[in-house]
Amino acid sequence: MRNQVKHFINGEWIESTGSETIDVVNPATEEVMGKISSGTNEDLNKAVAAAKAVLPTFSNSTKEERIQWLHNIVEGYKKRKDEFIEVMTDELGAPLSVSEEVHYNMGLGHFSHAAEALESFSFSENRGGHTVLKETIGVSGLITPWNFPTNQTSTKIASAIAAGSPVVLKPASKTPFAAMMLAEIIDEAGVPKGAFNLVNGTGSEIGDGISSHRDIDFVSFTGSGSVGEKIMQNAAQTIKKVALELGGKSPLIVLDDANVEEAAKSAVSHMMTNTGQVCSAATRILVPTSMKTQFEEAVQKVLPSFPVGDPRKEGIATGPLVSEDQWDTVQSYIEKGEKEATLLVGGTGKPEGLEKGYFAKPTVFTDVSNDMVIAQEEIFGPVTTILTYDSLDQALEIANDTIYGLAGYVIGKNPEKFRDVASRIKAGRITVNDTATDFHGPFGGYKQSGIGREWGDFGIEEYLEVKSVHGMPS
Ligand code: NAD
Repeated sequence: MRNQVKHFINGEWIESTGSETIDVVNPATEEVMGKISSGTNEDLNKAVAAAKAVLPTFSNSTKEERIQWLHNIVEGYKKRKDEFIEVMTDELGAPLSVSEEVHYNMGLGHFSHAAEALESFSFSENRGGHTVLKETIGVSGLITPWNFPTNQTSTKIASAIAAGSPVVLKPASKTPFAAMMLAEIIDEAGVPKGAFNLVNGTGSEIGDGISSHRDIDFVSFTGSGSVGEKIMQNAAQTIKKVALELGGKSPLIVLDDANVEEAAKSAVSHMMTNTGQVCSAATRILVPTSMKTQFEEAVQKVLPSFPVGDPRKEGIATGPLVSEDQWDTVQSYIEKGEKEATLLVGGTGKPEGLEKGYFAKPTVFTDVSNDMVIAQEEIFGPVTTILTYDSLDQALEIANDTIYGLAGYVIGKNPEKFRDVASRIKAGRITVNDTATDFHGPFGGYKQSGIGREWGDFGIEEYLEVKSVHGMPS
């Protein structure tokens, strides 16, 4: 049982000014695995004051110092690999292999890639008639979701350090412990006191407090669209810059020359990885009408190679959903899907033998049309939808008929068609044939999937203001 009820403020773990706590539940066992403090506005004010106090020196730190801090964090992070894996398996329910290969690696990648991006990053550019200076934006507030406990926190923290912006982080209260480990690592890395602060608590208290705080200059938020909207409204009161990484309902276009088995494997991997709790997962699978039956058969064949079960057990590919609430939400979408489409596999309820824990049945719907609720709304569970198309133009029309624009995927052989798809899907990231993600590339969404970009040099830019200086001798 982890009893971690302190906040990290100004380089120290300090008691909360309030006495309320939040239980953290292991989703595989439904048991309380620990407690964190439900922070107060007073706690938040202390953290913001610490960040504000260090701003003049931290924002003037040299590029070399920042690179060194990032390298130190990488070293500290690596030393705690086993603990990270255990913690994320317990708090999120990710299988040990997923905690290692996806979560641990992504968190690590952001720190090392930010250091690399910083090497070649220029904070001053002479453009003939004027000079452009890129200066730290000020104090940043970071609010993160539960589905990627190290990825979401690390990308924001790494970019902020690279830009010299002191931060106050509020991690998701469902998965706070990996973020608290990061606080310890950052402290040991020699990052100045006050440059990194962590306050635990609820979204309605600490999250809301961050987005409306007068002394926070920028809010970087990752989470749901509904909360993103509230954050924009709050930030408007002080004309604060916001970056929003929100939801998605991404299309995967299977071209008519694709290998059906490979395409089915890709579709199933999207729905099963992290139990489908991935903002950029492809959840609308568009297949040529002529390939439909073959594709459905291939999906059914591939599904057993992603076994669901106890995330601590060897060989398990998919764990439980993160919480009872999330389980209920996914069930209600499956019920809706059963009414509007054809259930190919799965359905409501828990998989046999997995009655304890928030496990859901991997569920595939077919005969789906794009106006159905299950094709339009983000389900965030091991659920996918199969739609058909008769021409690439029609596939692209369906792909773009969504409020979201986070990602798009294409599987097939014809490079001309890849180019067509990549240029015509309105989304922030397109992936051809499951190519591995390059962390130096920007990540973020079009339309209601968000505002701004994270990762690499684009991520650093978010934490900077631009100043043009005219008449300065070069
Ligand atoms: P959420 O919006 O419920 O919560 C995200 C964070 O916001 C949490 O820390 C929460 O405590 C806080 N919060 C809640 N209410 C708040 C308020 N009124 N003011 C300020 N902060 C508040 O999202 P979630 O359920 O934790 O995460 C799932 C969502 O996140 C999905 O929609 C998913 O698509 C999205 N997501 C997006 C990305 C991306 O990069 N685009 C990545 C991961 C997750």
